Amino acid sequence: MENTVENNEKPPDFKEILLSGVEPAWCVDGRCDNTIENGPQMLGGSLHSVVLSAIATNSVFDQEYVDKNLLELHQNGFRLGVHRGSHKHPEDGTCDCGFADKLPAIIQKAKDQRVEITRRLMDVYRENGEAIGLSESEFSQVIENAYKSIEEFDLENIQVKGEKLVSIGEGNGAVAENLEGDHGETVCFVNLKENTTLDTIGMNEQGTQAFNLDLWMAMKQSESLGVSKDLAMGGSLILYQATEMVLVEDNGKTALPVVVRP
Ligand SMILES: [Zn+2]
Ligand SMILES: [Zn+2]
Repeated sequence: MENTVENNEKPPDFKEILLSGVEPAWCVDGRCDNTIENGPQMLGGSLHSVVLSAIATNSVFDQEYVDKNLLELHQNGFRLGVHRGSHKHPEDGTCDCGFADKLPAIIQKAKDQRVEITRRLMDVYRENGEAIGLSESEFSQVIENAYKSIEEFDLENIQVKGEKLVSIGEGNGAVAENLEGDHGETVCFVNLKENTTLDTIGMNEQGTQAFNLDLWMAMKQSESLGVSKDLAMGGSLILYQATEMVLVEDNGKTALPVVVRP
């Protein structure tokens, strides 16, 4: 099947919900756990900024590193969250959080698809440039700077993933959501509006699913761990696009549109 960013169906509207600031992090996953309130969505929940922090410093991403950074996030006032899903297979070490399970493949994809990912992100910028708050050349520089760190990062540094990684999160007090059902996302939202997220529970109730990255929160948490603004913004977008490629396109499905929500 030929992958294309064009989609005949109009993506669903972004169903906004206000956050009070105490909700635990959720993943970008479009499925939901009805028993836990919606929280700010990032790749693997709290794992997002810890991964970017490891990339920023080309650090070994092992239990010690993850423990140290989750503690720091907690001390910085962020409520920790990770998740499992109904397709977990603990005997194979998978938790059904695609980001946690496929972390090395996602970073590899980001490295391999630099040209395509950069092209797509520049297209996303051209549609919603003003909302991101940078000129086109500034945004292009952000992506280029983020790629310097991603390309220098050694994949062998990733020593924990999947169920092991989610268990480390829980060991640090993270809430672990259990996402039910199958994936049916039709769009990848990038939400820029502070203190809001996608009402993933409400979306599922109305029979629609969307990936959502709360870029405002991903940047806040990453920068609180010492990640530069360029890597916090560019790295978040690059890894989000690479995650979509691994979880959606590598499963033979059509590429999903990335839509910035100002
Ligand atoms: Zn399964
Ligand atoms: Zn996940």
